[in-house]
Amino acid sequence: MNAIAARLEDIKNELGTNTRLIVVSKYRTMAEIQAVYIAGQRAFAENRVQALLERYDALPKDIEWHLIGHLQTNKVKYVVPFVKLIHSADSLKIIQEIDKQAAKINKVQDILLQVYVAQEETKFGLEPKEAKALLENPDFSQLQNVRVCGLMAMGSNTTDAAQIKREFTTVANLFQELKSGAMQHNEAFKELSIGMSSDYPIAIACGSTMVRIGSKVFEG
Ligand SMILES: *Cc1c(COP(=O)(O)O)cnc(C)c1O
Repeated sequence: MNAIAARLEDIKNELGTNTRLIVVSKYRTMAEIQAVYIAGQRAFAENRVQALLERYDALPKDIEWHLIGHLQTNKVKYVVPFVKLIHSADSLKIIQEIDKQAAKINKVQDILLQVYVAQEETKFGLEPKEAKALLENPDFSQLQNVRVCGLMAMGSNTTDAAQIKREFTTVANLFQELKSGAMQHNEAFKELSIGMSSDYPIAIACGSTMVRIGSKVFEG
């Protein structure tokens, strides 16, 4: 087994059965991504639309693509035709545009609401109370071509494990609250996308169903 295949195997063994691995391929070369593909991985994520489109074009069509970066309204139409899951839906406006573009091609687009729990000013996302308000907004309830499948969040960029655990617990609690509240009739609402290379063991302990891992796969 080569080094990449071995690392994929190790990470998957740590994940257990409740958590899926999404490999973050941003900034990697096509050859690096291909090596991970050959090792068997099919779910990949990009954070920029331009890179996502280039990779979608160049790489095998059985790859499942995830968008994990901030999405601008004018770019939505390029990604909706093929993207599996948009993790970074962070406003009613962007969700309305996703719905509009998905309706044009008769698709129901799966999305996650990105929730802001980190103690940094630079990250996108909805405050927990904004996420709740959005799901209860009548303008949201009307939308037929988007399906909210759960929540995504990023922890702070810190080595303080206790802080990251507090942040992941906040989003996990919100997830449970919505699951038994506003989203109780939506069976698709079951994904909690938390955890990256530096913090995925904490995320798994907090109930992550999808970890987004880049450097640990490509660099070890
Ligand atoms: C880059 C990125 C990741 C993966 O980060 P690694 O530290 O390389 O594992 C996960 N989620 C988002 C939103 C990212 O932008």
